[in-house]
Amino acid sequence: MASGRYVFRFPKKLIDQPVTCELVSDYGLTFNILRANITPRSEGLMVLELSGDEDKLDAGVQHVEDLGVGVQPLANDVIRDEQVCTHCGACINVCPTNALALNHETFEVAFDPEQCVACELCVPVCPPRAMRVHF
Ligand code: SF4
Ligand code: SF4
Repeated sequence: MASGRYVFRFPKKLIDQPVTCELVSDYGLTFNILRANITPRSEGLMVLELSGDEDKLDAGVQHVEDLGVGVQPLANDVIRDEQVCTHCGACINVCPTNALALNHETFEVAFDPEQCVACELCVPVCPPRAMRVHF
């Protein structure tokens, strides 16, 4: 069993196509939508977690890419500028997944991209704008 978090960008022509359903029916994957912004007659964006057999996960992701969906692994999309972060802690309470959490040994705020679901809640509360989301 393998899993991964991805950002899917849907071009206009695919907005009304059952692309994610095909990942279930044709590749036996399960998905959990973490965030979605899809508007008719416009481009769409979906953040989702996919799970399934490793081969089928790779094949399913390749399939949606072949259809014309832009695919990026999620971990690459949220970054913290370590030179800018002051470890003030303002982001800790808004992060729903504990991707941002206090390290009780160093008293610094640790960022774990693997736990991040790209909700962007930390972005506006960060005084020096250290958290950046690239979609
Ligand atoms: S709010 Fe910004 S500066 Fe403060 S700990 Fe979080 S990422 Fe660092
Ligand atoms: S984007 Fe959301 S999940 Fe990711 S670190 Fe910020 S608050 Fe946490």
